[in-house]
Amino acid sequence: MAEFTPQPSCADAHEPNSLSVAQATQRINDLISPITETETRSLRNALDYVLHDEIVSPINVPPHNNSAMDGYALHGSDIADNKFTLKQVGIAFAGQPFTGNIQQGECIRIMTGAMMPTDCDTVIMQEHVEVNNTLITVHGQHQQSQNVRLAGEDLQTGEVVLNEGHKISPADLGLIASLGIAELTVKRKIRVAFFSTGDELRSIGEELQAGEIYDSNRYTLYGMLSHLNVEIIDMGVVPDQKQALREALQQASEQADVVLTTGGVSVGDADYVKEMLIELGQVDFWKIAMKPGRPLAFGTINNALFFGLPGNPVSVMVTFYQFALPALLQLSGEAVPIKHLLQINCVSPIRKRAGRFEFQRGILFQDEHGVTQVKTTGEQGSGILRSMSIANCFILLEEQCDGIEPNTIVTVQPFSGLI
Ligand code: AMP
Ligand code: MG
Repeated sequence: MAEFTPQPSCADAHEPNSLSVAQATQRINDLISPITETETRSLRNALDYVLHDEIVSPINVPPHNNSAMDGYALHGSDIADNKFTLKQVGIAFAGQPFTGNIQQGECIRIMTGAMMPTDCDTVIMQEHVEVNNTLITVHGQHQQSQNVRLAGEDLQTGEVVLNEGHKISPADLGLIASLGIAELTVKRKIRVAFFSTGDELRSIGEELQAGEIYDSNRYTLYGMLSHLNVEIIDMGVVPDQKQALREALQQASEQADVVLTTGGVSVGDADYVKEMLIELGQVDFWKIAMKPGRPLAFGTINNALFFGLPGNPVSVMVTFYQFALPALLQLSGEAVPIKHLLQINCVSPIRKRAGRFEFQRGILFQDEHGVTQVKTTGEQGSGILRSMSIANCFILLEEQCDGIEPNTIVTVQPFSGLI
């Protein structure tokens, strides 16, 4: 009788056909060309969009020298030791400049933001003067040019203010408004279509029959995509039937720049996603040496990028954050963002076998001395979605790591730095 040889499975620590996390990331990067279509948007409507052209300042900001304090503007050469008296000859408000002349020995009252008169180069704050009708006596030590904000000290005419590929933040809206720019040329939003696969899945609002579960992946995916400036096309649940999958994948790839599916990429008898990808498009890879999330089919269908994410709810989130999210950012034309990683002491022991990269769910917390530490969320099964819900970070454990003792420094990726 022939001897039974077990097939490689996701229970193995190492599997020769798998790519490493770094190789998979590289393969995805190599396949993506950022979108080039642009649109013109009014400033407020450009929030979270990616700039297509650099922004060059058309003006100086501030446009004129102005006072940084409420006080008195004078000729700096009038400053004397400790105590001297000047005559007040006028007043300047923000938006209402003083237009007369100011001689040596004279000063004007000036408010914060008011334009500096051309005669004056220095402001004394009002707390340092004694006022007697129009006679202003200055006390203390002062320096020429103090308390004046110079024209162009924030931005100078002709200066590049923001680069192409920069994503517009709330601060940028203010910065661009300070230049008087009303419209921007940005890259268009990318379109992402997604659906869940599985005969066992019901949508919320439906009654569960024996063996059925609610579809949670479409909700986590919706949530993660909503934090990005992308157009979301939710295509619902597709059963484990080749024809239904074929039609859904065709339709998705015609409508979207990126297609995401969950489930059906493993080696079960009803896992047809990879087969459909082979039929309709190109498979780039479909296995990564990582946990959770080993089966991940990546390739293209028509002009769309395709990510066949695993079915288990935690694997979906891990593979989305580690692979789909960076790909979406790259595709959207955003200059590649920095990965926020921290080195933190882990107080929990972690069991792990060498051979695959693990993304454990962790909780960053402050100990009684105010020092940030990390612990695991406990049970790490890929179906335990609660581990993602209570976690605030991933603990990254390299392929070769074979477990850690309590109080070891580990690499942590906070969820707050993910998007
Ligand atoms: P699969 O990769 O399709 O074999 O799915 C792996 C596991 O994830 C199975 O236990 C599925 O029932 C479960 N699963 C797949 N899709 C979903 C979903 N959309 N929501 C919740 N669980 C799912
Ligand atoms: Mg399935």
